[in-house]
Amino acid sequence: MYVTTIAEKGTKVHLADIATTPPKDISREDAEAMFERLCVEVFELQDLMWGARTHSVLIVLQGMDTAGKDGAIKHVAGCLNPRGVGVVSFGVPTKEELEHDFLWRVHRHAPRKGETTLFNRSHYEDVLVVRVNNLVPESLWRERYGHIRDFEEMLFEHNTIVLKFFLHISKGEQEKRLLDRESDPAKAWKLNVGDWKTREKWNDFQEAYEEVFRRCSSERAPWHIVPADSKWFRNLAVLQTFVEALRPYRKIWRQKLDQMGEKGMAELKEYRASQGAGAHSQHTAGAHAGERGRQD
Ligand code: ATP
Repeated sequence: MYVTTIAEKGTKVHLADIATTPPKDISREDAEAMFERLCVEVFELQDLMWGARTHSVLIVLQGMDTAGKDGAIKHVAGCLNPRGVGVVSFGVPTKEELEHDFLWRVHRHAPRKGETTLFNRSHYEDVLVVRVNNLVPESLWRERYGHIRDFEEMLFEHNTIVLKFFLHISKGEQEKRLLDRESDPAKAWKLNVGDWKTREKWNDFQEAYEEVFRRCSSERAPWHIVPADSKWFRNLAVLQTFVEALRPYRKIWRQKLDQMGEKGMAELKEYRASQGAGAHSQHTAGAHAGERGRQD
């Protein structure tokens, strides 16, 4: 496992102490080969989950601008059967969304049984950008940590497997990626002056994230901090964590599918038997009618 997983509330995290670069013991070539194997496995697991319809998956992707949320979604969702996958991006809330509680726009996109939904940004923006930019009074955003914990707990109780990823890039790597967008015409469409403005508040965002990890981590909805300076490693780490979270369910999904198969088979047998009996009684009734006809 190549990520830092925080599965306990109260855990103090100092992001500056967590690597943003891949571990030394893995090459790009090995990582890409592992990714391909996991890609096949996750497709198979997703298929079992889809059929069994007992669980769903929610993947939350957060990170500083340019951290690669879109790229991770493209690669990981690219391994899945599009039937049963949803991607939802959360931007600046609309007027209608602001007139509701902050979870209103989020909850309606929670995955149905059998489905996997990936969130590009999420309800966490309401304790990140909202906090850093003072968009609501502190007393209001402070309350939200508890609401988020309860919300994710409820999803878990409804058999949603909740996986939250923070794509951890260094400030230097972010600068490089932002400058690349200026120098590469193919990437220029991504230019957004707001990214440079947000960058000025880098430390405030890192602190806000650290508080999120401390307050909103649990066994049932852990945070995974992924070194994201290398895209090939980021993709592998997210996919590997995803597959490892699904593997324990393989057996119960298979059992459920077996039960469904047995039930379907029993119903079919019963139907065939009734058809046989029906055909027999129809045949007999026809014969009697014929006899009657002849008698008439
Ligand atoms: P991204 O930077 O995620 O690739 P983008 O630049 O295309 O996306 P949008 O998806 O339109 O932009 O919106 C993202 C912006 O919306 C981010 O700046 C984010 O901080 C902001 N945002 C998201 N949720 C909220 C929220 N609850 N309140 C205020 N701003 C929010």
